Amino acid sequence: MSDQIEELRRDVVFALRGGVIHGFHEGVDNHFSVALPDGRLLINSYGKHWSELTPEDILEVADDGTVLSGRGHWDRAAFTIHRAVHQARPDVVAVFHTHQPYATAVANTAEGLDTRLVQSAMLFHGHVSYVDYAGIARTQAEGDQLRSAVKDDGSIAVLMRNHGVMTVGANLAEAWYRLYFLERASQAQVLAYSTGRELVRVTEETAASTAAQWHEAEAGSAATLFAALRREVVREDPKAADWLPATGRVDA
Ligand SMILES: [Zn+2]
Repeated sequence: MSDQIEELRRDVVFALRGGVIHGFHEGVDNHFSVALPDGRLLINSYGKHWSELTPEDILEVADDGTVLSGRGHWDRAAFTIHRAVHQARPDVVAVFHTHQPYATAVANTAEGLDTRLVQSAMLFHGHVSYVDYAGIARTQAEGDQLRSAVKDDGSIAVLMRNHGVMTVGANLAEAWYRLYFLERASQAQVLAYSTGRELVRVTEETAASTAAQWHEAEAGSAATLFAALRREVVREDPKAADWLPATGRVDA
């Protein structure tokens, strides 16, 4: 199990550093978490920029908040929110929360994500939830809302009004894939809306069938994208090559 945890820690770091490369980061804030057996979580410690994180900075935390291994301390708000989502969805292994700019902008619009507009948005057609803003200190309230938003198994992304986004996945690669395409879809939506021109949308039926196509191919595509992400991170910091898995593929 310890080897497996070490590999997961490395992949959490690849995802967080990848978040810097793709502009999903917010200084030292925001967290990615992974569920382990017995309610334990892996979650990045608070205080370092994502680009500075190494596998030692990924904490193993017991259900009651006790840090079992890793360097640093956790952020109470992050732990509360992430634990709520993991408890609500035992099928979910990875939970990623960011304030990534385009998806956050879309979360702040009344309409939200337009899942009939651009192909990448159709991945989320019928699979996106919304929660209202509760305030910085209202983590329990936000955690409760997130728990409700994701407890329906179909939800793969949550747009948090006036705040940011969250994606969930059966593994790290899947959560990253959804985070990545949520941002790309949101960017396309913001650009399309900014033209001020009449927009063309696909039918409800086409959006639903395209979502099914996305999900059919998702596991393989997500693993391929995550392997590419690891290589991007290594190009940025060659020392990160030490954390690459022998196979070069994610199987968490
Ligand atoms: Zn946040």
